[in-house]
Amino acid sequence: MRLANKVAIITGSRRGIGFGIAKRFAQEGADVVITDIDLAECRKACKELEKYGKKTLALKADVSKSKDVEKMVKAVIKKFKKIDILVNNAGIFIQKPLIEFSEKEWDKLIDINLKGVFLCTKSVVKEMMKRRYGKIVNIASIAGEVGFINSSAYCASKGGIINLTRELALELSSHKININAIGPGIIETPMTDFITQKKDVLKGILANVPWNRVGEPLDIANAALFLASDEADYVTGQTLFVDGGWLAH
Ligand code: NAD
Repeated sequence: MRLANKVAIITGSRRGIGFGIAKRFAQEGADVVITDIDLAECRKACKELEKYGKKTLALKADVSKSKDVEKMVKAVIKKFKKIDILVNNAGIFIQKPLIEFSEKEWDKLIDINLKGVFLCTKSVVKEMMKRRYGKIVNIASIAGEVGFINSSAYCASKGGIINLTRELALELSSHKININAIGPGIIETPMTDFITQKKDVLKGILANVPWNRVGEPLDIANAALFLASDEADYVTGQTLFVDGGWLAH
């Protein structure tokens, strides 16, 4: 049990990578907070985790709204008295050429993907600082390291997360809080249905993946488990790419 007695918040965890992380953490002994924009779905996800025998909490929170985030942190402290781990996973993807990208779409994506990390981290570290303990894992992307066509805001948001992670490592180390990121490649979730459900598109994508398969949420969850555990005590400010070798090209 690598996360025994830990309390973990995973944002955007009703499904996909976030849910995969919540499940893996519960298997390793953590109490988990499933938070997302749809409360009924969060409750359903918590129910699925009951079999691991750990406590769960379902909370509705939009990570781009500071009021929601503060309410979320208060509710977690009320139930669990502490927060050991935060996974900033919530995110959206909009694929459009630059000239078709509206200002509203740009703002929405940056608010969720990048500002959301700022708001959740700020709120949660206030609690972590009191106990001089914390592990934060930000879900970035290979699209934060290389360009992906027609994904301007997404690439900017994920590149922003990678450097925000480095900067926050400098600020938080003296408080004994680790902060790292994961850069997934193409992982099979509802976000990538448009790739994985179309044979020809998938074939084109796999040409970039030496491992010759798309990833699963468990691939990311295993990396998150390491970074959220005390085994990663001396690791901070890093981005671990979990991409089947995509960035090795
Ligand atoms: P997903 O769409 O299945 O999950 C994203 C979750 O975030 C959803 O449950 C959604 O409701 C939630 N969410 C959206 N807006 C939110 C908000 N304002 N507040 C709170 N929650 C919100 O997609 P996924 O693939 O599981 O993505 C998880 C993370 O992984 C995202 O940050 C994504 O950018 C990143 N990522 C995914 C891939 C991939 O190939 N699937 C690759 C690289 C990075």
